Amino acid sequence: MRKQYYSIAIDGPSGAGKSTLSERLAKELGFLHVDTGAIYRTVGLAARRRGIGQGDTKAVAAMLPQLNVELRYSSDGTQRMLLDGEDVTQAIRHHEISAWASMVSAIPEVRDFLLEMQRKLAREHNVIMDGRDIGTVVLPDADLKIYLTAQPEDRARRRYLELKERGEPADEAQTLQDVIARDRRDMERSVAPLRKAEDAVTADTTGRNQEESFQLLLSLVRDHLGELGGGKS
Ligand code: C5P
Repeated sequence: MRKQYYSIAIDGPSGAGKSTLSERLAKELGFLHVDTGAIYRTVGLAARRRGIGQGDTKAVAAMLPQLNVELRYSSDGTQRMLLDGEDVTQAIRHHEISAWASMVSAIPEVRDFLLEMQRKLAREHNVIMDGRDIGTVVLPDADLKIYLTAQPEDRARRRYLELKERGEPADEAQTLQDVIARDRRDMERSVAPLRKAEDAVTADTTGRNQEESFQLLLSLVRDHLGELGGGKS
């Protein structure tokens, strides 16, 4: 049976530009953008709000059955996250929620809980899904897999500028240490570690600005999806 929808998996370490570039690509192609990091961030925020201690994996697993995590899309196609009915799209972007997201995402029960939600979106839409394990675990049959990366110094610099722009306290050296620590946690965890799928194409954005990175991705997508690449639906 012919597959009904196309899926593009974009994985890579934090700060490589996955979410921003995926969102732009999705708009260009008329695909749905699924930022899976935002979903893990929402679960991380839920754990924090419930006063669960960092590292208390049992308590995180125990809260899942009562948790209501939803994805919505605004009319311009922007993904919004709802936690127990409240829009937490902004709240999950706080610096400290990154560490919570990384913590909860290493718990197998959390990954199982979110797996079907992600797959269902790909069954029902053309998607560009970005995360850490999309090409390896969530959508192993994705039509195109891209491993988006950049040197840690570049990624830390972007993250630092982003935090400053939002008026959050930021220290460049500390941001680099955080990026390296998060990479290590994401790559060394036993469940769904960050790694390049064997059939993924690597896109390295080191030294490229956003526009150049976008053009790089767009050309990869157009090469792989051929005639479909240009068409907005
Ligand atoms: O992409 P973002 O930095 O927002 O993701 C937050 C955290 O969620 C990551 O550090 C990673 O630990 C986790 N994550 C994951 N699997 C995904 C997406 C994100 O484990 N597919």
